[in-house]
Amino acid sequence: MRIVFIGPPGAGKGTQALRVAAHLGVAHLSTGEILREACADGRPIGERVQRYLEAGRLVSDDIVLPLVAERLKEDDCRSGCLFDGFPRTRTQAEALDAMLADDPAGRVVAVEFLVPEAELYDRLAGRGRSDDKEATVRERLRQYSETTSPLTDYYDARGLLQRVDAVGAPDDVFARVIEAIEGLAADD
Ligand code: AMP
Repeated sequence: MRIVFIGPPGAGKGTQALRVAAHLGVAHLSTGEILREACADGRPIGERVQRYLEAGRLVSDDIVLPLVAERLKEDDCRSGCLFDGFPRTRTQAEALDAMLADDPAGRVVAVEFLVPEAELYDRLAGRGRSDDKEATVRERLRQYSETTSPLTDYYDARGLLQRVDAVGAPDDVFARVIEAIEGLAADD
């Protein structure tokens, strides 16, 4: 199974993604993490990536798409994976479908995390990551509502989306996410 998590920064996507991937026994594929690693390990693209991250802007597809394609070729992704923070645009969703055209692991299904915007600011303020500065957060939220949120239509129109209330205790959110995924799997 291929699962996509869509949600604004601060929605708890990353935490839930790790837990859900472990629960389902599939690989966790976080593009944010891959990009932060690319900065940290001194790859030539690191400096470019760093500039996008600090600005809170989406890293360009000529960087992101090859990194995803490379990661997907690894053994642990063969039977399924959970995409955390990818795709973030319609172009990326189409590129992912193309990458997975002959994929035996099943179609891509998506879960959207719903959190009111005011709560996101509170959560992000307490997190302390370098791209959690106020101006960067504002830009990341703007990018989300303008570019990534409309992406839910791409999956919804195909009956491949479930929306989850992501406010509340992490255990409760986890249970809702699993229920959503089971619903999507049942339709398979
Ligand atoms: P995340 O850890 O998912 O919140 O991502 C942190 C930052 O990495 C984002 O604000 C973007 O700058 C960048 N990023 C992560 N995933 C993507 C993606 N799929 N496309 C472009 N940029 C991304």
